[in-house]
Amino acid sequence: MKSKKRPAGRVRPIRALVVCGSLVTLLAGGCGAGGGLVEAAARLRLNDCTPAFPDAEGLGTADRIVLDFTGGFSRLHPDVELPPVAWTAFALADGGTLADAEQDFIEDVRDTIVQILCEAGLYEVQVRVGEAEDFGEVNVVHFTADVPTDRSHQMGLAEYDPCNHYHDNIAIVYGGQIARYGIVGTYGEWVNIFANLAAHEIGHTLGYSHVSRAEAASSTRGSFTELMLDGHTIDELRGEQRILTAQSTCPSASDITEPVLTHESMPDLGR
Ligand SMILES: [Zn+2]
Repeated sequence: MKSKKRPAGRVRPIRALVVCGSLVTLLAGGCGAGGGLVEAAARLRLNDCTPAFPDAEGLGTADRIVLDFTGGFSRLHPDVELPPVAWTAFALADGGTLADAEQDFIEDVRDTIVQILCEAGLYEVQVRVGEAEDFGEVNVVHFTADVPTDRSHQMGLAEYDPCNHYHDNIAIVYGGQIARYGIVGTYGEWVNIFANLAAHEIGHTLGYSHVSRAEAASSTRGSFTELMLDGHTIDELRGEQRILTAQSTCPSASDITEPVLTHESMPDLGR
């Protein structure tokens, strides 16, 4: 594996805000704004739901989201190189582990995330698999074998960008924490678990806040579970999720704020 570069670049101010009942702090630090943006961006794959963009390069102003399964450095843990996901940690119901189908699995997770975002009407969103350091101003989801360094039970972490003002927000899916639950799932259930977790974090980076169960109950559609619930059960993660509740978290341009961090609560497992 090639060596990783620590992210460097624009520095955001430090803020401390209470979000979702947790005291969270936006960490200061840089972001990946190095060279190679145009070259890397040109390789971005458009989603099936993405209409033609108006500019000559076909990039438009879409949010570009990179799913980085190799871990790497993130602005949220600038001094730690996150280890890549250990696929052997996830058992399949019919035997074996996700390591037996790693590449197919990654593509299926990506496709499911795309489906979730498309159905939410987020047409100008592009999602691809890659390494964060190869890109410039993109939203990145780091998938790692690590567990949270500061809390014991969260499976995900994201910058909540209420007005989607920034397009280089960071999210992390903690594979090590998921593995701790000892889940045995079908291949399709594992696709949903990883895709739902990542799409939820991506939702925060695009401006979606948490939805209460009471609020979600009035907007349930078919067999889908609301993606932006504040805390899912494992059973809910196994199934299909969608953004079901309309949100307007940025009523006017004057309300644009710095992103803050959201910490995801653990599933309700009675422990
Ligand atoms: Zn959340």
